[in-house]
Amino acid sequence: MSKPDFYDVLGVSKSATAEEIKKAYRKLAIQYHPDKNPGDKAAEDKFKEAAEAYEVLSDADKRAKYDRFGHQAFEGGGFGGGSGGFSMDDIFSNFGDVFGDAFGDSGFGSFFGGGGQRRGGAPKGTNIRIKVKMTLEEISKGVEKKVKIKKYVACATCSGSGAKDGTSYSSCKTCNGTGAVRRVQNTFLGQIATQSTCTSCNGEGKTVTAKCGTCSGEGRVYEEETISLNIPAGVADGMQLSVGGRGNVGPRGGRAGDLIVVIEEENHEELKRDGHDLIYDLTITYKDAVLGSSLEVPTLEGKVKIKIDAGTHAGKILRLKGKGLPVLNGYGRGDLLIYTNIFVPSKVGAEEKEVLEKMGGMPGFSMESEGKQKGFFERMRDYFGNS
Ligand SMILES: [Zn+2]
Ligand SMILES: [Zn+2]
Repeated sequence: MSKPDFYDVLGVSKSATAEEIKKAYRKLAIQYHPDKNPGDKAAEDKFKEAAEAYEVLSDADKRAKYDRFGHQAFEGGGFGGGSGGFSMDDIFSNFGDVFGDAFGDSGFGSFFGGGGQRRGGAPKGTNIRIKVKMTLEEISKGVEKKVKIKKYVACATCSGSGAKDGTSYSSCKTCNGTGAVRRVQNTFLGQIATQSTCTSCNGEGKTVTAKCGTCSGEGRVYEEETISLNIPAGVADGMQLSVGGRGNVGPRGGRAGDLIVVIEEENHEELKRDGHDLIYDLTITYKDAVLGSSLEVPTLEGKVKIKIDAGTHAGKILRLKGKGLPVLNGYGRGDLLIYTNIFVPSKVGAEEKEVLEKMGGMPGFSMESEGKQKGFFERMRDYFGNS
């Protein structure tokens, strides 16, 4: 199942301005809002789709990544649970600032239950962002990395409740323990039910009557935790992978935030990355270029021998199929491209000079013997033009 293009979802062009994107989103959000389409699953899906598209396209940074990598930029498929789209709850609780931004100037804030305020329950924990360095070898195969992270974890003494013995709390009477108060509002779109956070219990639905001694009633403690990350093969610098529920837990039993892993690609000593392909600059001697040879080149799996044909020109590109990087969440691999250069000494001795002078006068070394040879740019065009 492939995701629809975010620009198509919002019905805007790839060059749409931030204002156009906001406008398009606002229109869709009103059209498909669940309160206007009760029980309509298709409308709900459209509503979610639009929210997800807007979340990315409204952020210049995310939009640039999306333009470059497509949906891959935000999907950690096969990555410890990954991010399997948003739930309605996420849209309302985590992306409040997005809605607030899109609707703020038209008085629609209340539409979304208090501009993204959580609805009931203890507050959700915050996300944690970490950077993970990856070598090209690791990117080639995928890797399991163990990382140490300082974060809030549930207090073991009170099982995260914050209450002494885990039992010293009472249910809120104002909201009957739901944490939210519901009311119906008349708007020009018709009646819209809105929920707001219960002010008596701050939305938590319960009040601690005696605090846990270990966590002072917080329900969580700050500790170092070792987390093992399964980073899939084919990731690239700057990509973000999200592991749901591995961020800070919220106070008093609040859900945990996410762990966001930002990939930092380390430079390789010999190979350069170009998308899924790798590039190696090979310099050969004039003798090997003329007579041919067998030489070693590095790959991510170690050195391999390649054959240099007799009569190899500078700028010739050799391709080792499948020796590049794998496609993230896909099939196939890129290639290793070997760009050949010919070493030209900047200084030669008297004897070498004499040999060269002699050689230069021989018929095999005169340019007239083979007709005009293709120039560098011509050969580059031959190579890339029909690929
Ligand atoms: Zn309450
Ligand atoms: Zn505790």
